[in-house]
Amino acid sequence: MFGIPSIELHAHLEGTIPPELCRTLAKKYAIALPSDFFRDKGYAYNYSGFEDCVTRVYDIIANTVRDPEDYYLITFEYLSQLAGQGCIYSELIISPDHALEAGVPYLEMLDGISDAIDDARDTFGIECRLNATLIRHLDMDKTLDTVEILGANLHPYVLGINLAGIEIPGDLAKFVSPLIALRNEGYKLVPHAGEVPGTEENIQIAITELGCERIGHGIQAVNDANLIKLLC
Ligand SMILES: [Zn+2]
Repeated sequence: MFGIPSIELHAHLEGTIPPELCRTLAKKYAIALPSDFFRDKGYAYNYSGFEDCVTRVYDIIANTVRDPEDYYLITFEYLSQLAGQGCIYSELIISPDHALEAGVPYLEMLDGISDAIDDARDTFGIECRLNATLIRHLDMDKTLDTVEILGANLHPYVLGINLAGIEIPGDLAKFVSPLIALRNEGYKLVPHAGEVPGTEENIQIAITELGCERIGHGIQAVNDANLIKLLC
């Protein structure tokens, strides 16, 4: 694979933080990370399942990123790794909600990330664009606040809107209205859909109601021949 130019379309930015950088950021802010987070080399990946990973472990790691310079560091680090593997283009998933939770306003997060994209392009020749994600397991009021921020702050590097988090059967229906509002502002829609068992309906909604040009995972389509036809 090495040497063949590649692209990368599904990485959640805070999930790319290398263990050593995570430790450095935690030290910077005197954050006590759980003792079972790391092995001698790397993360321990010590969680009880997908939900525990997404709602606890991921959030703890994301919470070590607390200013635009931190966003610069994690973005530049990831793009340098990708470029070293022959990747020429990345579309990173960024999370305004995780940034806000850590005290970083959306536009300040974007400043750090954008500077890293520009420097990585100059240094390694890799290009990068962004998809901002909504978090499906947060309160809808919170999500609508984020929708408003995204709608009011278009940015040339932010191409699309994702939807990540704990997926439940049919839950994409409740996001149709806010997602279409953002599509009308000019964003592409690229939600996770059909990631976990029983969520075939979300794939259907993504295609027929949202007109998505790309979905994340979609693997549950394998259970429904009509969905496979729709996707083909
Ligand atoms: Zn994902």
